[in-house]
Amino acid sequence: MPTLLEGKTALVLGVANRWSLAYAISQAFVREGAKLILTYQGDRQKQTVEELAAELKAHQAIACDVTQDAQLAALTEGLQQQGTVLNAVVHSIAFANREDLSRPFLETSRSGYALAQDVSAYSLVAVARAAAPLMTAGGSVTTLTYLGSTRVVENYNVMGVAKAALEATMRYLANDLGPSNIRVNAISAGAVKTASARGISGFSKMLEKAAQLAPLRRNTDPAEVADAAVFLASDLGRGVTGNVLFVDAGMQMMGFTRAE
Ligand code: NAP
Repeated sequence: MPTLLEGKTALVLGVANRWSLAYAISQAFVREGAKLILTYQGDRQKQTVEELAAELKAHQAIACDVTQDAQLAALTEGLQQQGTVLNAVVHSIAFANREDLSRPFLETSRSGYALAQDVSAYSLVAVARAAAPLMTAGGSVTTLTYLGSTRVVENYNVMGVAKAALEATMRYLANDLGPSNIRVNAISAGAVKTASARGISGFSKMLEKAAQLAPLRRNTDPAEVADAAVFLASDLGRGVTGNVLFVDAGMQMMGFTRAE
């Protein structure tokens, strides 16, 4: 099988554990011949992510809390000093307070709203700005989003609003970075049981319902999301920018169905 990312260097942000979508994406990138660089949020995650990086045969793992501009600047500077040219960036990061993913959306606090926006949406601007100077040969920036950006999904609440902002952010960045031949896209993944997803109240029930309703009558496999990320990062995706690509077993197009 040809390797689609041979000779490319990819920066993947958001590997927390083996269940992370970013982990599946990293596995697929390595399978396709990419040189992999991972980041982790801080000291608490350092050991785990370094172990996963070793397992994935990643080139390195670097500390980077995306809410800290100084850490993003240090990431750019460190990679620049090594002479790294980035071809692909994956932003697989989101956070909201647990209480904002269980109570009525109406109860969302100002600080909870701002936090979700900062970590889950603004961080794409900050990451793209940090990465762009390293993408001297052009390339691809991919973020992860969810259907809750455009449809009301129970308890997704403040994260749905952040995903709406993230998708708009993706489009504006695609326009800014297009002249540098940097493409910016989002993958809208179907629900997958990860650490973040478990923070959403009633998530397991939602998974069950999605599997019944989706045209493929099953849930999304992280490996399917990862293969779509390979496509976008590879030259096969060279004409694709500013898109939301759904990898969700078809769930996004469904309306009402026969009541069970
Ligand atoms: P995950 O494994 O928990 O990944 C979320 C990542 O965000 C973690 O690595 C987390 O790091 C990182 N993060 C949070 N705050 C950060 C910060 N300030 N700086 C740097 N990293 C930070 O869960 P996931 O489901 O794979 O989520 C990845 C992306 O996919 C998210 O954008 C999510 O919304 C999206 N998505 C998920 C689903 C799903 O059903 N799972 C569906 C569609 C889209 P720490 O754990 O170290 O804090």
